[in-house]
Amino acid sequence: MTEDRAAALKKIAEEVRTCTRCPLYQGTTNPVPGAGHPDAEIMFIGEGPGFYEDKQGLPFVGRSGNYLNELLRIINLDRQKVFITNVVKHRPPENRDPQPDEILACKPYLDQQIEIINPAVIVTLGRFSMARYFPDGKISRIHGQPKFMGDPVIAYYPLFHPAAALRNPELRKAMEADIKRLPDVIAEVQKRRASTSSNADDSSDSNNDGPMQQLSLF
Ligand code: SF4
Repeated sequence: MTEDRAAALKKIAEEVRTCTRCPLYQGTTNPVPGAGHPDAEIMFIGEGPGFYEDKQGLPFVGRSGNYLNELLRIINLDRQKVFITNVVKHRPPENRDPQPDEILACKPYLDQQIEIINPAVIVTLGRFSMARYFPDGKISRIHGQPKFMGDPVIAYYPLFHPAAALRNPELRKAMEADIKRLPDVIAEVQKRRASTSSNADDSSDSNNDGPMQQLSLF
């Protein structure tokens, strides 16, 4: 139920607000737990909040956020239909990289968000979220190459971080080519899920709330 998911996500946001599990909360203006649709079929996971995200308490609202919006527009994907968050929920000082112990301390929040939303596609933005699913991966080598795992199948799709793409025209070209392939990744998830469900039970009633119906995002 959408309401149950929204309530569960709100509870996590409240826990994040008072969290002191790592030092990152110190000196911040707002926590940035994440935002988006509780039933999102696509989740974007970045690194950590930056200056504008800290000011507003929302993910990807600065320059990187504007660029992410631009990328979503390329494929006609409505930002309201996805969920966007980060591996750490408080801004690292001076926008430094999040440290391994900070990522670990914050991991339960992200794990719970993923469990609640149960997306069909997880898009990782940058190397820190990529490392959750591709621990030995190098972003320069594996960006734009989806990995399909699980039952029901989920696609893990590693992309560069928008901020990195903004700094480097070559990465920007690659980023835009990769985002244009996202609809194909979603179609592949649909195909694999359809084939699994028809193999599992040809005679079962169709469920209109199932993943296939929810994946009509474009
Ligand atoms: S970054 Fe995560 S673990 Fe660290 S204080 Fe914030 S919510 Fe807690």
